[in-house]
Amino acid sequence: MNNNETYLYNTKPNKNTDFVIWMGFPGCYAFSMSSLGYLWMFKSLDEHEDINIERICSDTNITKYNPNDVKLFGFSFSFDMDFLTIFSMLEKYNIPLKSKDRTIEPLIFAGGPVVTANPEPYKEFFDFFIVGDGEDTNLTAVNICKKYSNRDEALKHLSEVEGIYVPKFSKNVKKLTKKLSECIYTPIISDKAFFKNTFILEMSRGCANRCGFCLASYNNLPLRCVSYDNLIKTIELGLTYTNKIALLGAQISAHPHFHDICGYIYEKINSGQNIEMSVSSLRVDAITPDVIKTLAAAGQKNTTLAIEAGSERLRKVINKNINEEQIINAVKLAKDNGMNGIKFYGMIGLPTETYEDLEATINLAKTIKTANKGFDVSFGFSSFVPKPNTPFQWIGRQSTKLLEEKANFVKKELHKIGIHANVSSIKWDYWQAVLSRGDETLNDFVLEVYKNGGKLGAFKKAAQILNTNTDCFALEDYTLDKPLPWDFIEMSPGKNFLKKEYKRLLSETT
Ligand code: SF4
Repeated sequence: MNNNETYLYNTKPNKNTDFVIWMGFPGCYAFSMSSLGYLWMFKSLDEHEDINIERICSDTNITKYNPNDVKLFGFSFSFDMDFLTIFSMLEKYNIPLKSKDRTIEPLIFAGGPVVTANPEPYKEFFDFFIVGDGEDTNLTAVNICKKYSNRDEALKHLSEVEGIYVPKFSKNVKKLTKKLSECIYTPIISDKAFFKNTFILEMSRGCANRCGFCLASYNNLPLRCVSYDNLIKTIELGLTYTNKIALLGAQISAHPHFHDICGYIYEKINSGQNIEMSVSSLRVDAITPDVIKTLAAAGQKNTTLAIEAGSERLRKVINKNINEEQIINAVKLAKDNGMNGIKFYGMIGLPTETYEDLEATINLAKTIKTANKGFDVSFGFSSFVPKPNTPFQWIGRQSTKLLEEKANFVKKELHKIGIHANVSSIKWDYWQAVLSRGDETLNDFVLEVYKNGGKLGAFKKAAQILNTNTDCFALEDYTLDKPLPWDFIEMSPGKNFLKKEYKRLLSETT
């Protein structure tokens, strides 16, 4: 136990080494303590006798190690806008932002979904990137950096490792996909975490559904599931420290033992154990009375369902093959088995979307509301952002003006029938799309955005100052033969598959 932190593994307090790594989290301490991947990476290096490692967050004020002694500073890069916090953290410790300006400073690296999909807009700031699953690659990278004190020598060797991209030396990079032989979990529990005292465990990685826009699916194919025995063992470990369990995975209900795990938890609660359990968003076809009963008994009184689009036509285009009857039944099941409410996730501006599709969303909401009086129904929308390595990577966004009109339309119409809806900022989503499909010319642009304060206006100002055409990244439809900035990253299932899928999905228009 350290202050408010409980370690679930044996720490080694007096290591006999001077090799220091900082693991950076571009957010506050509370969020870092609920970030499963970040904490697991920390643990996997902290367990080694010959590595001193420290967690550094955006609100870290006092560090255990002197910044001058740090040899490696790695960042978790999960959201497009994380670059802003990463830059401010580097400046806080007087580290030059661009790699070419660093000589004696630590090597700076990043890993996570954003830079696995497309590191090009940030390639001048990081010495290397971890592309794909980083659990094992991190340790390989550390061992290389320990062996070679000369920066270029270390970077050359790093560029030879599968799953590592060194902008200075790499040509092609193969994304690393790991077998899920172990179940990863939050190895440190804290009452100061955003999800207070919660033991989070990963049930599965990836999603086999392959919705056309979904980075979480395509970045992590194939779907990998932790074995039932491993899950039970991990749940039992967590329950010795806390009664709060969260099951994580892009689509946990696809796990072949999801229902068995729910049954296991339900039995424990029934026999008097106090367990609070939550799950990430469920798919409509996974909702069964047993699952809902377990969630309700475990204190989760609201659930979220990602339907993405209101019309069956558009759901077919995006590969979300669920029908209206299934959605309506899922809500009824949730209501009849102990839930107080349901939140739907949807998207605005999906490829081929028309106002008819939005009206279908409103009509579906009306049907659900009428059939389930007293049940809390709400909606959350984001707007379509084309993501690299997905079948929709070639499709540009609709204009900000049109998307804002659509967002206002759905909000107003849902409000009329007493349903609250919130929509993500269309303007921020535009800039997210710019970064998402950006190329190496954007390195100076992101720096200028940062220098101008990183708010919405800073993006526009940076584009004006540098005369950058950002619409070509966010709005343009690309032809299938256009070379893409992330083509050099070899990733399964590969570009030919994505092309076929693009054609197949766009033919589903009637
Ligand atoms: S079901 Fe969800 S996680 Fe799976 S591909 Fe579709 S949007 Fe992504």
